[in-house]
Amino acid sequence: MRFGYREICLEHDTGARHPESPDRLRAIRQSLSECDHIEYVAADSAIEAEVTTVHDADYITEVREFCEDGGGNWDADTVAVEETWDAVLASAGLAQWAAKAALESAGGHETPFALGRPPGHHAVEDDAMGFCFINNVAVAAQHVIEQEMADRVAILDWDVHHGNGTQDMFYDREDVFYVSIHEEGLYPGTGGIGETGEGDAELTTLNAPFPAGCGDAEYMAALEEVIGPSLEAFDPDLLLISAGFDAHEHDPISRMVVTTDGYGLMTDFLWELTDELDAGLGFVLEGGYGLETLSDGIKMVHEVFEGHDPPTREWTINDNGRSVIENLKEQGFPSIDPDQN
Ligand SMILES: [Zn+2]
Repeated sequence: MRFGYREICLEHDTGARHPESPDRLRAIRQSLSECDHIEYVAADSAIEAEVTTVHDADYITEVREFCEDGGGNWDADTVAVEETWDAVLASAGLAQWAAKAALESAGGHETPFALGRPPGHHAVEDDAMGFCFINNVAVAAQHVIEQEMADRVAILDWDVHHGNGTQDMFYDREDVFYVSIHEEGLYPGTGGIGETGEGDAELTTLNAPFPAGCGDAEYMAALEEVIGPSLEAFDPDLLLISAGFDAHEHDPISRMVVTTDGYGLMTDFLWELTDELDAGLGFVLEGGYGLETLSDGIKMVHEVFEGHDPPTREWTINDNGRSVIENLKEQGFPSIDPDQN
């Protein structure tokens, strides 16, 4: 894979004991140093005029001035230092690079993965929250649409938290399909099954809020039975993955049980799907707070593009997971029955 990376993203210092630390990127880089065919790309930062296509201009000015004044606590867990301003623009720029590279490249070995921080999916139009200042994946999706590189973009968010910011920004947009699989009841509390988009954009938001204890079986069933068919029907030019790795069974902050192989299986499924749809595929880092599980997950994604086939198993889907999937079908999303696989 090609990994978008900038040293400035290490300078966003969140202080001791903050889970969203620069060590996350260091651990990923260390782990990838053992792999073949890793290319790093130091993409350009986004500019303010690009991030204000999805964010309120006054809010962006406020973030810049907050950082210029030395930063501090924006809220209880969203922290900035002076260097954070450069890091947020670099992080958004890496996501833009991933979107463009996904559309321009041949895919496979060249598949882009933006390793930026701070993450982005909780940032809303006019506020920072949940460690996020600028919604990187939203900036990227909007950028390629404005550049007329893509007519329709899908975003699949497998971070364990709901990407409330991304959903809000595109809730009434027919040209952006937002899909999230997340743990029900976790921060920020949004992302119910009934949140499906509004007006003409009805059914261009899909939320699968699984209860604690769900993992590979339930995630793969949701992909195969509802998300895959829905993405196929939407027929995007580009699929961006809001790739958090905090649903991992050993991540310290969630109670989901996705395995490292599970991330490989999802990657493999989505690669095949975008290949069939002739759509670009790119990844943008979100959360993931176990240094080892985070770097193992990203290494697994990379290895899938190197030809590694993660082992499939006989799935038993738990009742809670089955109920979410059936409920999604009742919302009217395109779907198939499990025995059609
Ligand atoms: Zn998360």
